[in-house]
Amino acid sequence: MHLVYGGTFDPVHNGHLRVAIELMERLEVDCIHLMPCHIPPHRGAPGGSSGDRLDLLNLSVADEPGLRVDGRELMRGGSSYTADTLRQLRQELGPDKPVAIVLGTDAFSSFDRWEEWEQIPELAHIILVRRPQSELAPGSVPERLLAEHRVESVRDLKATPAGGIYEIAPPMLDISATGVRERLEQGRSIRFLVPDAVVTEIKKRGLYAGESGR
Ligand code: ATP
Repeated sequence: MHLVYGGTFDPVHNGHLRVAIELMERLEVDCIHLMPCHIPPHRGAPGGSSGDRLDLLNLSVADEPGLRVDGRELMRGGSSYTADTLRQLRQELGPDKPVAIVLGTDAFSSFDRWEEWEQIPELAHIILVRRPQSELAPGSVPERLLAEHRVESVRDLKATPAGGIYEIAPPMLDISATGVRERLEQGRSIRFLVPDAVVTEIKKRGLYAGESGR
């Protein structure tokens, strides 16, 4: 099964990397594709450029063969629609290979507002990662989708190429990219929140530094 784990990764942190490893182990897959999305230039606070985010991700997975970086959404530019990405993956992999996208309950709760959302279950399974303090609204479209598409075992999920939703609640580290950026803006340490190689590169490039840190 091919697992796609998307996000802004602005920057990648140990919360992302730990959960990716937990998912690989629990879902018994050989690798997971970390897929950074394009961010429009008008997004708030000083963020990393596409190139910086990609380079930091590559550094973060250097010693972890199961974690692979897939920069296709960055290369494509513009809005990163999951349906487009999955169609492209499907063309490469053919119709029969199981593909799954990883989504937190927070992201899934607004799933029915995504571009071409109805196509997505035809293209891939969804691995729904339970996040604390994030429940699906009773009676909402995502809640109904989960009830209709729920698959109880990983084995059943892998038996079909797409269309299932599998819920999982891996342990999560209390780290966010926002928290990492805030610390950098304030000139504080981010050690042990991101891999050492990422700390070093952020410092070298002077990324995410506020006025005081520049
Ligand atoms: P930001 O703080 O900028 O909103 P973020 O840290 O939430 O960023 P994203 O790149 O937006 O990170 O998230 C990518 C994916 O990683 C999302 O599915 C999100 O739910 C998940 N994620 C973010 N932080 C963690 C964490 N600490 N543990 C597990 N998963 C996480």
